[in-house]
Amino acid sequence: MKFTLLGTGTSTGVPSIGCECETCTSDDPRDKRLRVSVLVEHAGRTVLIDTSSDFRQQALRVGLKHLDAVLITHCHADHIFGLDDIRPLNFRHGALGVYANERAWADIRRIFKYVFEPTYFGGGLPQVVAHTVEHGAPFCLGPGLDVTPVEVIHGRLPVTAYRFNDFAYATDLSEIPPRSLELLRGLEVLVLDCLRITPHPTHLWLERALEYVAELRPRRAYLTHIAHDIKHARDSALLPDGVEWAYDGLVISDGD
Ligand SMILES: [Zn+2]
Ligand SMILES: [Zn+2]
Ligand SMILES: [Zn+2]
Repeated sequence: MKFTLLGTGTSTGVPSIGCECETCTSDDPRDKRLRVSVLVEHAGRTVLIDTSSDFRQQALRVGLKHLDAVLITHCHADHIFGLDDIRPLNFRHGALGVYANERAWADIRRIFKYVFEPTYFGGGLPQVVAHTVEHGAPFCLGPGLDVTPVEVIHGRLPVTAYRFNDFAYATDLSEIPPRSLELLRGLEVLVLDCLRITPHPTHLWLERALEYVAELRPRRAYLTHIAHDIKHARDSALLPDGVEWAYDGLVISDGD
């Protein structure tokens, strides 16, 4: 199984427009962060987590040819505003299955009303097959590609994290409820929200993220959804062994 981090930045992306801070003016490519998204590839299947605002650029960057499914974490703009850009994939491969929890589907249908309640005839609309996911109810996207949705809390909003075998992706959260912690044990890799060093009301910050890593004890952890407060090289010294700041283009493979 192969996981490619297409974006690792907070909702503004990094650099942030107009900012001249040390990170936003850095030459280090690891300090250039598109909005968060992950590509999961296994046994000929390709799955995207979140159609970020940067989806088109991310797809072109990795030479994306095909998707078998899209999984949505939640409906904040940075995670879904690229949905319209699945159209070129639809043109060649037909409708695409999109998986999200019930709350997210209500938001997707409202935000993308023109897709679900079209008022004109003509091409150009994304073709979506809606699937609703539930916490702790696994579903299968292909041979060896079982997915378990895990509910985490983002301020007050329930957000879906996804577990694939011994890999889990959990972004945009401030709390992992006890019943969800139980679904995130025994991991090889955990990709986890960590916005910045100082506290934040709706995201994990460094101390809280490291507390969850210490409790869940994945073999490796990567921190994502990173703001410009974090400069990759400078702030890598803050992390214990086995924990790294993620960066755009990072490929994580579990060896099969
Ligand atoms: Zn976000
Ligand atoms: Zn900045
Ligand atoms: Zn969010």
